[in-house]
Amino acid sequence: MISIEQELGGMSMRNYMEEVVGEVFEEVLRNNPDFCQCAKCKQDVVAIALSKIRGRYAVSPEGEILARVEQSDRQVRADALLAVMQGVKQVAAKPRHDGTAELTEE
Ligand SMILES: [Zn+2]
Repeated sequence: MISIEQELGGMSMRNYMEEVVGEVFEEVLRNNPDFCQCAKCKQDVVAIALSKIRGRYAVSPEGEILARVEQSDRQVRADALLAVMQGVKQVAAKPRHDGTAELTEE
């Protein structure tokens, strides 16, 4: 399993999306064995993917988001896959595992 930081405070869209991104990312990694397996690169891909998805699904309050997300689960997964693939390409093109730059995403 890829370790993704979970926020406390019950189910939120963010936790839900982190779960979806984590699952999709594991599938992508299985299909891309050449991608760097270090924790830094994996964290970067997840951070990039979540930042893209959060931009698309930023809605509140949290309960309403979750209901909406569940209704369109297939679309959410398709979006998550796209975001993860973009993150993988971005990180593979410019891995930061030996650099000092930090993402602004947490
Ligand atoms: Zn790496």
